[in-house]
Amino acid sequence: MSDRLPGFSTLSIHAGAQPDPTTGARATPIYQTTSYVFNDADHAASLFGLQSFGNIYTRITNPTTAVLEERVAALEGGTAAVACASGHAAQILVFHTLMQPGDEFVAARRLYGGSINQFNHAFKNFGWNVVWADTDDVESFKRAVTPKTKAIFIESIANPGGTVTDIEAIATIARDAGVPLIVDNTLASPYLIRPIDHGADIVIHSLTKFLGGHGNSLGGIVVDAGTFDWSKGGRYPALSEPRPEYHGIKLQETFGNFAFAIAVRVLGLRDLGPAISPFNSFLILTGIETLSLRMQRHSDNAKAIAEWLSTNPAVAWVNYAGLPGDKYHNLARKYSPKGSGAVFTFGLKGGYEAGVKLVSNVTLFSHLANVGDTRSLIIHPASTTHSQLSDDQKALAGAGVDVVRLSVGLEDKEDLIADLDQALKA
Ligand SMILES: *Cc1c(COP(=O)(O)O)cnc(C)c1O
Repeated sequence: MSDRLPGFSTLSIHAGAQPDPTTGARATPIYQTTSYVFNDADHAASLFGLQSFGNIYTRITNPTTAVLEERVAALEGGTAAVACASGHAAQILVFHTLMQPGDEFVAARRLYGGSINQFNHAFKNFGWNVVWADTDDVESFKRAVTPKTKAIFIESIANPGGTVTDIEAIATIARDAGVPLIVDNTLASPYLIRPIDHGADIVIHSLTKFLGGHGNSLGGIVVDAGTFDWSKGGRYPALSEPRPEYHGIKLQETFGNFAFAIAVRVLGLRDLGPAISPFNSFLILTGIETLSLRMQRHSDNAKAIAEWLSTNPAVAWVNYAGLPGDKYHNLARKYSPKGSGAVFTFGLKGGYEAGVKLVSNVTLFSHLANVGDTRSLIIHPASTTHSQLSDDQKALAGAGVDVVRLSVGLEDKEDLIADLDQALKA
């Protein structure tokens, strides 16, 4: 064995996995079981009391899912991870661990639309209050912090426009406020950006998108960076105070730099229940094996299409951080030098009608509401995801009537350009 640390592509294939100890199976098997036989009564008691690690029930742990968790933790540079049923489930698990009713968190206004809904509506029922800030005005995060603030939440590369966030500047504000920085790294994937290297304390993903990568399975994951001291000032009682359901143990004291991941699993996942299916874990693991190849191709294809669109007479503007003139180009060069990802928006001179026509006339692009598939995807937000908003509200959300969003897939770029060309001319 050399003492070289394994690189990203090597970890994508091997981290967390070994040949199956009973059968020698080289691919990670799908452990499609709900429960696990105890060795004896003492073993059972120690598992239930968190005195030893092991499997009890697939709502809490599963051997296939454990490989997925170890692999993503390795790729992100975290101490541990907890997988769950979807990206939205990951967000609920994180905030359930951090928040008490009446608490606040600060979130970037520019987020995945589903997250904006979740924070504005569903979270209100738990008494968790979102305060919005603007990633183009980093100081707005500082102004939004109050004594009730328990976390700051941003996306590394943000929906829908593929804009790049100044993670380090916002991490400094979080550190000064004594709260963790949570980064949704879905659109970048750890291949393009590793938020923990820039000061994030918690990273989440919708595994549904680029990590799974093939548009076939929902999943989510929470990665613990192991960087945050949860015992300071008693602000995070789930981590610092004795747990009545576990014989009074204190999670931070007992589990140190992976206490947050343990809390997400044994308080959140156990009691709220959004477990991932072992079959989905298997499919997502298979996707992750090719993550570095896919993300590079996604980014290279997207850049070629953004360049082509920016010279097209039907196109009013293109926002892609990978283009030299783009507002976010300097941030992209700092945070994601290998490429700017697959997702970006552009505007049509013909407005609403032209947007509807374009999505109707493409044949290789699929008209649907998702990102991060091998297939290229297109959507006109004003007539779909954002159709209930007024024209002014649409514009504020980055979904003006002329806006089209692409998630560029892995096909030959010449074919994708030919499809857009015929649809724009039609
Ligand atoms: C899709 C997505 C989510 C939600 O994930 P699901 O797996 O659909 O629940 C969260 N954040 C971002 C950036 C996403 O793209």
